[in-house]
Amino acid sequence: MTNHWHGILPSALSAVGQTPLVALTRLAQQEGLQCTLLGKAECFSVGGSVKDRIARRMIERAEADGRLVPGESVIIEPTSGNTGIGLALISAVKGYRCIITLPDKMSREKEATLRALGAEVIRTPTAAAWDSEESHIGVAKKLRDAIPGGIILDQYSNENNPLAHYYETYEEIKHSLTTSDLANKRIAALVAGAGTGGTITGLSRALRDDQERQHRDAQEDGEVDGTQRAVVVAVDPVGSILGGGEVGPYQVEGIGYDFVPKVLDPEKPNIDCWVKTNDDEAFAMVHRVIRTEGLLVGGSSGAALAGTMKFLREDPVGKKLAQQKDANIVVILPDGIRNYISKEWFLDGSLHAPPSNLAHEIAHI
Ligand code: PMP
Repeated sequence: MTNHWHGILPSALSAVGQTPLVALTRLAQQEGLQCTLLGKAECFSVGGSVKDRIARRMIERAEADGRLVPGESVIIEPTSGNTGIGLALISAVKGYRCIITLPDKMSREKEATLRALGAEVIRTPTAAAWDSEESHIGVAKKLRDAIPGGIILDQYSNENNPLAHYYETYEEIKHSLTTSDLANKRIAALVAGAGTGGTITGLSRALRDDQERQHRDAQEDGEVDGTQRAVVVAVDPVGSILGGGEVGPYQVEGIGYDFVPKVLDPEKPNIDCWVKTNDDEAFAMVHRVIRTEGLLVGGSSGAALAGTMKFLREDPVGKKLAQQKDANIVVILPDGIRNYISKEWFLDGSLHAPPSNLAHEIAHI
């Protein structure tokens, strides 16, 4: 699945994924890092997030199995918004009716985007336990049972969720690295937040299999493959149980849960370590990345980068990597600020930024 955008795309579906890997040079320099910090900027995907690939893959596989029939099936999905946007976008192109259940805390921008794409949206209480009837998952199940042709593709258990990242996202990262001018084109560490866990599970499995293949090839060729085993770091908000701790409220969207989804493989060797982050750290980092790197990332990207810095500053393995010039640290930046423009944490930090000198300068014209 390596691309790229030659000629004319038959539809928007061909603009899913194919996102750039961007060097975060200024951020790395500010932090005193010797390693290379690379952000995979998922806001460049057609629907604006890391979830577009899984939406396309889940729909196309269900169509191939005959479980999803154009003109008959109704796609229903509980989501924190981005999977919904991916499904709604594909439904718009393919002509499916699409219904999204969305916890109250998710942004109005996501709801507006979903509705603009023609999806119907039902809000559910954020505090409802995942297995209660009122949760976004519970309401989606009720709708599926009530609506003829209703089908939940179910990103929490659908194998095509991690597989989309195994076959597509990982191959894109590899393509970006191998076609780069970096001396070392291998991944030393991979960092991602976990919601369903599809991203980190799929990427980690692909990375492990790829490293094993490289070792085998080197052995067969009688060479010594000195590459160190890559470290996989998962980032989880305080208030989620995925990386340990108690259930509690937090604002960052798309990562963390009060249950372990089936597609998440949370233990070693899949995930080496978990880093907890809080809202303040995540949102401060969003402003910093936008301001220093010009990348318009969303809240969970801030969390992923704040978690990366903690790992590189505090973890014994991370500390070593931070000082290695040939270590490439790949961080997944799952969506863009488009989804959060009206959120107070963004407006406050942007509109109330330190006053500029402009009024003073104008007074002297
Ligand atoms: N960040 C955002 C903004 C998301 O919408 C999601 C998807 N829930 C994630 C991170 C985490 O992705 P995954 O579900 O693959 O763990």
